[in-house]
Amino acid sequence: MQLLDGKSLAQQIKEEIKQEVDKRIAAGFKRPHLAAILVGSDGASETYVGHKVKSCQQVGFESTLLRFPDTTSEQEVLDAVNDLNSNSEIDGFIVQLPLPKHINAESVINAIDPLKDVDGFHPVNVGKLTLGLPTFVSATPKGIMTLLERAEVDTQGKHCVVIGRSNIVGRPMSILMSASGNPGNATVTLCHSRTQNLTEICKQADILIVALGKAEFVTGDMVKEGAVVIDVGITRVEDGSKKSGYALKGDVHFESVAPKCSYITPVPGGVGPMTVVSLMQNTLQAAEGKLA
Ligand code: NAD
Repeated sequence: MQLLDGKSLAQQIKEEIKQEVDKRIAAGFKRPHLAAILVGSDGASETYVGHKVKSCQQVGFESTLLRFPDTTSEQEVLDAVNDLNSNSEIDGFIVQLPLPKHINAESVINAIDPLKDVDGFHPVNVGKLTLGLPTFVSATPKGIMTLLERAEVDTQGKHCVVIGRSNIVGRPMSILMSASGNPGNATVTLCHSRTQNLTEICKQADILIVALGKAEFVTGDMVKEGAVVIDVGITRVEDGSKKSGYALKGDVHFESVAPKCSYITPVPGGVGPMTVVSLMQNTLQAAEGKLA
């Protein structure tokens, strides 16, 4: 079994991005600038945004964090989105999800200029992804593709089972893995909450990508010998032995699954760091203006 170490690969890619930034500065361009809108005080969102801001510093980007209280109206968030759309200093921006319940996330995402939508959530960018056109590939699926690519995992003609059909992970993952390309060219089965015989389907997977948000859901008996397992899940579970009071658990029961795998991602230190570095890659892409 080989561990797919997202933490060290992300570090390596950050250094590659920093070199590109240094070249751009030397050529007289401004620093790439990523902005984030954070509404409310959700603990996990605070952590994620914190990682993104820190990563910007590490790769030499400017970053701007716009914080709004829970009580902010949808119109105020839309106004902030429009300001960022028209601010030529900002190359790309994200709206950290989830938003408070009184704000319609779809309306907010639809208001983002697709050329600044470095999360790749706007319908125009999702459409381009589906058609295989150049676009901002949303960060988590992009990070997983990079992990597979750099580890030279053979995906051609393999059976890839994806658990979870969310717009930010499962669905785009299934599209990328079935698309022509390397990694890609897989035969994909997309499973979700209504799927029957999930265990039987998982057992047929050469590559199993798990994104359902239930701690340690996939156990050893659901996995074929030699499978590649990508664990996207991050669930906080109470743990009195930790200073924070919680431990992070993946969707895969690592102890029983890992011994059967050819490759597996750990949690933490697998997909999470790859997600953040993919956002940095998308921001650099936005600054380079190649999609315009
Ligand atoms: P979501 O809640 O939007 O979607 C979950 C999906 O799982 C749904 O499509 C649902 O149909 C499916 N599902 C639920 N129960 C199921 C079951 N019993 N059997 C089969 N399918 C089932 O979640 P999401 O936003 O895609 O996130 C999934 C997990 O990944 C969460 O733990 C989240 O925290 C984590 N996540 C991690 C990263 C990262 O960077 N590592 C990024 C995004 C999300």
